[in-house]
Amino acid sequence: MPVIEVRDLVTHYLTAQGSVDAVSGLNFTVEKGQTFGLAGESGCGKTTAALSIMGLLPSNGRIMGGQIIIDGEDLLQKTEAELKKIRWSKVSIVFQGAMNALNPVLNVGEQILEVILEKEDVTKSEALDRVRELFRLVEIEPSRIIDYPHEFSGGMRQRVMIAMALANYPKLVIADEPITALDVIVQNQILELMKDLQRKLDLSQILITHDLSVIAETCDKVGIMYAGKLVEYGEAGPIFKTPLHPYTSALIGAYPSIVGEKKKLNFIPGSPPNLIDPPRGCRFHPRCPYTKEICSQEEPEYREEEPGHYAACHYVEELRDTLRLGD
Ligand code: SF4
Repeated sequence: MPVIEVRDLVTHYLTAQGSVDAVSGLNFTVEKGQTFGLAGESGCGKTTAALSIMGLLPSNGRIMGGQIIIDGEDLLQKTEAELKKIRWSKVSIVFQGAMNALNPVLNVGEQILEVILEKEDVTKSEALDRVRELFRLVEIEPSRIIDYPHEFSGGMRQRVMIAMALANYPKLVIADEPITALDVIVQNQILELMKDLQRKLDLSQILITHDLSVIAETCDKVGIMYAGKLVEYGEAGPIFKTPLHPYTSALIGAYPSIVGEKKKLNFIPGSPPNLIDPPRGCRFHPRCPYTKEICSQEEPEYREEEPGHYAACHYVEELRDTLRLGD
């Protein structure tokens, strides 16, 4: 059984200007021990998908349809009280920007202690032992549990956030842009730590990022979102070598490679659409170099083009060789 299965998830934000179609029919599964990467430009719906799974949408967010199945149970059928029990113990999240996510007036040990004591029937001393064990796991000296967030560097604070996410032994951790605000060396250390924890604890992860190089390095499966829709989904290897959607190919082409010949970086002209009134047909058509008349009229079907490899484009067969990126 997958650790999580998301089926046809639809999430909107209600605003004074109209309803924002932020996630529109998202489907994916994550198996035990797997890392699934969800990628796309800012505003494509990645974080909204994560907040929908966690039941932490802002007050104007509404889940309009779909299923989020964890351990055979649909989270969308749960009450807030039931969701509270599931949050952190079955699925937890590491937010972007640890300084904003941690409480600056409590020491970090107390913050993790709170998470453990709220969910579990353990003594304070047992919970404190757990906090020290978690610090060892994320490679921070346990004596530092009495320090405050401002006494840690950015990378160390992100380690504290990871320790907090693991406090109730969840099976699944969602990491939303966990390394965005860090310098390159610390980014690499945090990614290595996450990979190491995944192996040690047999964790499943959903990694949300706009950085495809991070996905290429860490993920087993990938979903590419554009304007609230999943446009391509499958195993990481085939997606990076033989993308089937022009947007995936353009995103990959927009990242520099340190191997092979020097190449001019591509960029994707234009910007993502306003999701209060998304374009008709394929939402990528105003920016797609291969667009034809039908693209602005009919929405392409999201189909399995090869075993386990899905894409939503009218011209998968015609573009297959053009989009191929090789090894
Ligand atoms: Fe481009 Fe048309 Fe395919 Fe959309 S359906 S990605 S516009 S070719």
